[in-house]
Amino acid sequence: MTQRTTRAERLAMPLARSVARDLAITHGGCVRPVQLRRTDLQTGQAEPVLVPCGHTLAAVCPSCAERKRALRAAQCREGWHLDREPIVQADEPDDEQRMWVELRSDVQRERDQAEATGQDTATDDAVIGDVDEQITRSGIRGNVLPARPVRRQRSTRRRQDTPDLPRRKVAARTIGKTYAAPDGKMFRPSMFITLTCPSYGRVGSDGTPTDPARYDYQRAARDALHFAALFDRFIQNLRRFLGYDVQYFAAVEPQRRLAPHIHIAMRGTLSRTELRQVLAATYHQVWWPRTDQVKHDDASLPVWHEASGSYLDHATGELLPTWDQALDAIGPDDEPLHLARFGQRFDAQGVIAGSRDANRCIGYLTKYLTKHVADSHQARTPALHDHAGRLADALRYEPCSPTCANWLRYGVQPKNARPGLRPGHCKGKAHRREHLGYAGRRVLVSRKWSGKTLADHRADRREWLLATLGITAADPARYTWEPAAPGDPDHMPKAQRLLHVVADRQRWHAALTLARARASGQAAPELPATGRAA
Ligand SMILES: [Zn+2]
Ligand SMILES: [Zn+2]
Repeated sequence: MTQRTTRAERLAMPLARSVARDLAITHGGCVRPVQLRRTDLQTGQAEPVLVPCGHTLAAVCPSCAERKRALRAAQCREGWHLDREPIVQADEPDDEQRMWVELRSDVQRERDQAEATGQDTATDDAVIGDVDEQITRSGIRGNVLPARPVRRQRSTRRRQDTPDLPRRKVAARTIGKTYAAPDGKMFRPSMFITLTCPSYGRVGSDGTPTDPARYDYQRAARDALHFAALFDRFIQNLRRFLGYDVQYFAAVEPQRRLAPHIHIAMRGTLSRTELRQVLAATYHQVWWPRTDQVKHDDASLPVWHEASGSYLDHATGELLPTWDQALDAIGPDDEPLHLARFGQRFDAQGVIAGSRDANRCIGYLTKYLTKHVADSHQARTPALHDHAGRLADALRYEPCSPTCANWLRYGVQPKNARPGLRPGHCKGKAHRREHLGYAGRRVLVSRKWSGKTLADHRADRREWLLATLGITAADPARYTWEPAAPGDPDHMPKAQRLLHVVADRQRWHAALTLARARASGQAAPELPATGRAA
């Protein structure tokens, strides 16, 4: 078609690439597919395979985010009312998983070499981040390079004002008690619990403080930073109190006042009085150096001293105390930097397996998982916007972790100090506006919840799909996998990958419709050669 079009007409035409993206979304396909090369060891033939990015945020990839949310809902449903102990065992890694871990070791070696010779490691670090994401996506649990264990065990002194909890020995059992109804029917109830943070000052119905000057933003910021650790404490106490290995599926969400709260599906039950008792005894102490005195503001920042590999005070020329020295300086009479507790308000209800209530709760638990913490409550009014701004300000110089650059402001070397650190510019997630101080995982699932990882639940889906289509999975030992990098002759540009995703999805969808339409026992329909849609 060579007909001339006007500029206005051309602008009104849909952009090819955005059409492909929209189409991919309509078909439930990934919009950021990762290209791998799969080589058949028998025939030597290599072909491109697109795997989904696996992102959890709808703003990044709506299809992957929705798939993850659906998997989480399935995982939540499966574990909540288990009546048999789950079997937890790790599978052998598959070829794709091995490939990513091998790649990860290569990059690590390059990075360490670069560091040893004093070169910049930023690019390698970024690649490592990407590869780690792919490793997790491919279904490997944990980190390839786990953080080193903490050297010291700080004071475990019980606070005076905390009531003692009766402690029972924690049995290996993970499932709750059964009850018999008068008609003899047995049932095993579970719980849906919501825990909140304490009050930081009065708020109006829109969640903003009635008097911002009297709202405790520092406390709000610190509670958010240590929320995940506080939740861990709660679970430990709950297990000791109830005497069995209580399992949970929990989701962290912000309230309108922008403080985190947590919804918990728990296997088994306890009474409200018992829950109140456990909450009253649950706290988390943060034994970090003091931050009440600003020793180095932006005008007098400590400088990096190459020879000693540490920071020194520009004015006095003295080295700043290291992280460990600063911790050792905390005396027996000192108070912890922060004491985190849950608020008095909580919510708890019993839930029966398969009830409408159970489904509603599962919907509630997974509803916001595809959004950023802050996106669930967008700052629609000036008051909300200002409230979010003040919380972000409070988080700016608050140390988020032992390695936080902000420690320099308070005259302490961050743990693992390196050149280029600037207070107020820490890269930690917690400081970012969209995270509201909570940098932990959105979904917290105990290990023996369903006895399955998200990858297992994904594999269940895949098995179901293959069974429905009446095909057998390819022998994994027959292929090798490697990533196709930009510059490789077979690497497809993004637009082309999107078109492939659309085509693959369409073929899968057609095959599935056909398979369902046919009665069972009929011949299997033809399937695409790639056999794996993004
Ligand atoms: Zn995706
Ligand atoms: Zn930080």
